[in-house]
Amino acid sequence: MNAGDLAQSQALPLELKVIKTRQRIREWYGHWRGQAYVSFSGGKDSTVLLHLVRSVHKDVPAVFCDTGLEYPEIREFVKSCGDVEVIRPEMSFREVIGKYGYPVISKEQSRCIEEIRTTKSERLRDIRLNGDVRPDGSRSRFGMVSKKWRHLIGAPFKISAKCCGKMKKAPFAKYERQSGRMPMTGEMAAESRRRMTNYLKFGCNGLSRKSPKSTPLGFWTEQDILRYLKEFSVPYCPVYGDIVETDAGLRNTGLEGTGCMFCMYGVHMEGANNRFVRMHSAHPKLWEYCIHTVGCGEVLSYIGVQYRDIFVKGAAQ
Ligand code: SF4
Repeated sequence: MNAGDLAQSQALPLELKVIKTRQRIREWYGHWRGQAYVSFSGGKDSTVLLHLVRSVHKDVPAVFCDTGLEYPEIREFVKSCGDVEVIRPEMSFREVIGKYGYPVISKEQSRCIEEIRTTKSERLRDIRLNGDVRPDGSRSRFGMVSKKWRHLIGAPFKISAKCCGKMKKAPFAKYERQSGRMPMTGEMAAESRRRMTNYLKFGCNGLSRKSPKSTPLGFWTEQDILRYLKEFSVPYCPVYGDIVETDAGLRNTGLEGTGCMFCMYGVHMEGANNRFVRMHSAHPKLWEYCIHTVGCGEVLSYIGVQYRDIFVKGAAQ
């Protein structure tokens, strides 16, 4: 599949997307003789996926990884869904950051910084500082710490990209080994460049991936997700608010994303009303724990991100 094919699929009407997605789900289920599961985060994408999967095969389990970093509303919603298997990581977030380091800026930048700090290889260090060497000897900017974040190399705290692996990948991998089931996730190509690259390479049912995975919503968009929830009256986590029509299409009035509450990936791009500022007013006790006990406040200050809601009493000190 190329980018043009993907754009065509993304432009299909929702009714056709539903038909196509159900077909991909049947294929995945058939290929693994029913040994499939839905990786269920409680977010709106995996809520749509679970609804679609259960409309085709009622016996497919939903599996939720309780990392301790989910919004309280998401945990409540997951409990209310019924028939959801809960798995947990072996380490807590505090243990992971204590042992490896904080996830900050992006997975790639965290990995590069971690490698520069720990590698004994001069060559790897050079690549992470100056970019990969192309066959003609010139340097690509791929795989290096960007100039903007160079100062993080000398930061007085650990930085690492291992958090997702320990908190999410490892528990699901264990579940798959023990159950023999293969995952379906709500990932969409439109969400990030990495997801788009993978979708173009593997399509919906990634049988040839290193770890096979189905992403039957791969060609859906955020608008499709909102429209599906609305049109099929699918119950979803209240933290997203209402789904309303606007001139620019559908929009939800609450949170946009419900990933890990304490994650610092991408927060530098969220502006003044970022996830930590919102957490300060919506979940003050969790905010205290995250900012002071877990130490995210020091990291956020270091990257120049405001994390206090100035309208919360006492926030100015
Ligand atoms: S999304 Fe962030 S906080 Fe959550 S597991 Fe991954 S790196 Fe850790």
